[in-house]
Amino acid sequence: MKKIAILGSTGSIGTQTLDIVREQKDIQVTALAAGKNIRCLEAQIREFSPEVAALWGEADARSLRELVKDLPVRIVSGMEGLLEIATMPGTEILVTAIVGMLGIRPTIAAIEAGKIIALANKETLVTAGHIIMPLAREKHVSILPVDSEHSAIFQSMNGEREHGNEIHKILLTASGGPFRGKKREELKQMRVEDALKHPNWSMGKKITIDSATMVNKGLEVMEAKWLFDVEPEQIQVVVHPQSIIHSMVEYKDGAVLAQLGTPDMHLPIQYALYYPQRRNLSGKRLDFYQLSGLTFEKPDMETFPGLKLAFQAMERGGNLPTAYNAANEKAVALFLERKISFPEIPELIGICMEQCRFAENPSVEEILATEAEAYALIESRW
Ligand code: NDP
Repeated sequence: MKKIAILGSTGSIGTQTLDIVREQKDIQVTALAAGKNIRCLEAQIREFSPEVAALWGEADARSLRELVKDLPVRIVSGMEGLLEIATMPGTEILVTAIVGMLGIRPTIAAIEAGKIIALANKETLVTAGHIIMPLAREKHVSILPVDSEHSAIFQSMNGEREHGNEIHKILLTASGGPFRGKKREELKQMRVEDALKHPNWSMGKKITIDSATMVNKGLEVMEAKWLFDVEPEQIQVVVHPQSIIHSMVEYKDGAVLAQLGTPDMHLPIQYALYYPQRRNLSGKRLDFYQLSGLTFEKPDMETFPGLKLAFQAMERGGNLPTAYNAANEKAVALFLERKISFPEIPELIGICMEQCRFAENPSVEEILATEAEAYALIESRW
């Protein structure tokens, strides 16, 4: 039995991870953590029998303790609870599927405890990649990507570097989101409902808005830099509206290797859980006779400045990716509350990148301080 713990088990990635546990039948869930969805976590505890489960607030944890008092599960809370789950003896793989920079400390603790990381929580690498990747190398811990694009790159690199074949370029594909082809002027009119209509993928609200602004692609660009240890100029974003090619790698002889498939997160999640093994996976398969055409475009970074700002944040480095990410989190929340317009999301990111105090090599504390500074900067405008 493979033993896994999941941070963010009630979310989109978390529940799809549990679908795989249900289907494969040889994974034991040692621990589950969620924010505040007590009912969903209770159902998961009853189905998967973890030793430990966590909710963020102690009051919610108390309510959950009462609900599951017939079961031999320990309920913990807060950051201490997440750290305990991240480092539990016996767990082999930690799936990091929480949102935001909250994932940094548990991920670091899990690496120090020698756990394999199946990483969905991209914000952790975007903001603290300079701490996490060297630590993972030092501890000989694998960080296996769950994000579909990064999984595709990882699959396209299988064995190549071990044979001395260096990557020439990463071609990170992007669907372009629901507003592909629109002009800047038109974006001012776009409402929350419009931005939530992703053409290909079904995901949580925050990441769906991030796809519409192309900030998600920006975050993925920064994630790719850390995961695959490449220079910013080696990463190229290619808009591919059909989302069939999940990303590609070009080698120095010009060969381009890609991973293709239907848009379904179960595949990259399962690949990370069983790497390097491939397992059966039920679901739709690609039918090449039905594919009407695969098309490719250059991203429009003038209309979608969120992507351009990500390249700037990556090139300058330090705590700029943190300012970028934190400003985006706050701005997306304001957009979802209908307090700002769609184009104001990248505008606020740009303002925070300019105004947050710069730190060249930020510690975890400085990263969290930058997050707070960006939040405060945006709040001060309302
Ligand atoms: P969701 O919003 O669907 O889920 C977030 C999860 O985190 C929920 O289980 C939530 O619990 C939990 N959570 C929130 N706050 C806390 C907290 N304080 N303590 C513990 N748990 C908490 O997010 P997604 O699954 O969409 O995304 C997760 C991560 O994966 C993100 O970093 C995202 O960028 C990345 N990702 C997502 C993809 C997707 O297809 N969805 C694709 C690739 C990457 P609760 O339900 O109780 O609030």
